[in-house]
Amino acid sequence: MKELEARIKEDGRVLGADILKVDSFLNHQIDPKLMQAMGAEFARLFKDQDITKVITVEASGIAPAVMAGLSLGVPVVFARKSKSRILSDDAYTADVYSYTKQRSNQIRIDKRFLSAADNVLLIDDFLANGQALLGMKALADEAGATIVGAGIVIEKSFQPGRQAAIEAGLTNIHSLAKIAAFEDGQVIFDDLD
Ligand code: 5GP
Repeated sequence: MKELEARIKEDGRVLGADILKVDSFLNHQIDPKLMQAMGAEFARLFKDQDITKVITVEASGIAPAVMAGLSLGVPVVFARKSKSRILSDDAYTADVYSYTKQRSNQIRIDKRFLSAADNVLLIDDFLANGQALLGMKALADEAGATIVGAGIVIEKSFQPGRQAAIEAGLTNIHSLAKIAAFEDGQVIFDDLD
């Protein structure tokens, strides 16, 4: 998505070897117009798939997921990151390791909001090592829901997330921007599929 690539070039900051900071429009301050355009693009990429629900993880997935849900006309459910390890019978749960935060979080979705009748689209802000996506897949699998695909705002294709997701059985993964490499603090983009 050209608009997103231009914004990453303008406002993204490369931190260290493999982190892109985009907190001026996605991860802290949010640009609603850009989010709306991304939601419309997700809706275009996943049209005609009878999606009944969009699933994401708090917090940074919520803005693009809400805009996708708005364009698709379906509800959005965000998995909560629970601090408590106490298991509850009425929630689906999965453990997700975050490389950026270097800790594991349990994510959970109340059983009232996901069921075997659902066709779900998974959305997240970044695809890096794939742990967040695999956690969402685990929640959907527990519910017996059908996963129609995954929509990612920014994929770092030099990291193993897509491969891990494919090996876990996820198909139909679309990213709005794909980063091939960081070179001298500059972002080098991959072609989109
Ligand atoms: P994964 O689970 O695929 O390793 O990473 C996905 C999660 O890690 C995303 O939801 C995002 O919050 C965070 N993340 C991974 N890489 C980056 C990055 O380069 N920049 C930012 N801002 N977040 C990242």
